[in-house]
Amino acid sequence: GHYKTRAAEASSEELGVEKYLQLFQLSPEMLQEVSARLRKDLLRGLGKHSHHKAPVKMLPTFVRATPDGTEKGDFLALDLGGTNFRVLHVRVEEEAQKVLKMDSQICAIPQEMMLGTGEQNLKGKTLPLGFTFSFPCEQLEIDKSILIRWTKGFNCSGVEGKDVVQLLKEAIHRRGDYDIGSVAMVNDTVGTMMSCGYRDQSCEIGMIIGTGTNACYMEEMKNVKRIEGADGRMCINTEWGGFGDDGSLDDILTEFDVEVDKTSINPGQKLETDKIVRLVLVKMTKDKLLFKGQISETLGTPGQFETKFISEIEDGLENAKKILTELGLDWDPVDACVVRLVCDTISSRSARLCAAALATLVNRIRNNRKLDHLKTTVGVDGTVYRKHPTSKLQKAVRLLAPQCDITFLVSEDGSGKGAAMVTAVAQRLAHQFPV
Ligand code: BGC
Ligand code: MG
Repeated sequence: GHYKTRAAEASSEELGVEKYLQLFQLSPEMLQEVSARLRKDLLRGLGKHSHHKAPVKMLPTFVRATPDGTEKGDFLALDLGGTNFRVLHVRVEEEAQKVLKMDSQICAIPQEMMLGTGEQNLKGKTLPLGFTFSFPCEQLEIDKSILIRWTKGFNCSGVEGKDVVQLLKEAIHRRGDYDIGSVAMVNDTVGTMMSCGYRDQSCEIGMIIGTGTNACYMEEMKNVKRIEGADGRMCINTEWGGFGDDGSLDDILTEFDVEVDKTSINPGQKLETDKIVRLVLVKMTKDKLLFKGQISETLGTPGQFETKFISEIEDGLENAKKILTELGLDWDPVDACVVRLVCDTISSRSARLCAAALATLVNRIRNNRKLDHLKTTVGVDGTVYRKHPTSKLQKAVRLLAPQCDITFLVSEDGSGKGAAMVTAVAQRLAHQFPV
């Protein structure tokens, strides 16, 4: 009893863990600073001559309009980009203002495939119209898109530098049983923005917080220096996961971030919160601050500390204890409290960094349009966002973008449905403005 109370009341300083946690704390001033650095990087990415060296790629998507709500029809969508490959039949219903999933098939992607040859991967898939491909691509047209590099643990040979739409078409052709019409290729952030945008036409940002993190938004064409034309807008896939790749965030990254990055299949992707938490817990145990200095085999093995554990542990002390037992750790009540504190601190940092990035985008849209006040909607998806309380993120964004009023809309199957929506909008524009 006494022990338990002490743990609940003790400050992190008393528990001797303060020096670890401090590394992950970001003051509001620091967040402003992070946002200012990203603001400059957005410009570098958009610039004709600065683009090639820019860490934040700001990729044109050739999506020039968000839905106006009059789109309709049936579409097929393919969705490749995370843990699953999905095929969807989608209906866009004007009456209901809904994008409906009529049918879908999901298959998990086995590790051999994530690392096999590219050919193996694109073979044997169904007739597509909208193709969501959630990796950084240099898009030359809506149906011509060169893979810059793999991310999220994928590393299939012979695809980087190639036109992925062409590979898909060839693969379908090889099957011999399907003919393929037009393809609209989109990033998952774009899909998310477009599917949310049907319901809420002020949705002009799409954000994913999952295995990877990224966002897209509607930029003024005149600022997209690498693409001809100055009229209207185009959706830009920021690939903000690249932020800091040139060292610009080194002063806020910890030794744990650096370590995670070194052992990653695709280095340069930050904020792999689960991996960072595991490393911190291992270090604290080695320093005899946790579990009587005894690391269990599970905690000692990379990949065994799952992303979902973090939100579960944060959820309550009882959960924390259950998970520590599952991990084979010999814990006492103080350990459980400390582990919760670690999870909370590190996930808060991720939330605040995402908030700083999102605030940069909304502030940019507001400035672009010379508005005192911007009311906008952000379409969101991603396993991490879904499984986490979003209050930390929302609070930090409000602080950093006080002149913006943001609604968050979680998209259901957004990345896939959105690919269909891109095609639907293109159809609408072709009818309205026939060439
Ligand atoms: C990819 C992005 C994608 C994001 C979320 C990142 O690793 O580079 O293209 O949008 O993950 O899936
Ligand atoms: Mg331009």
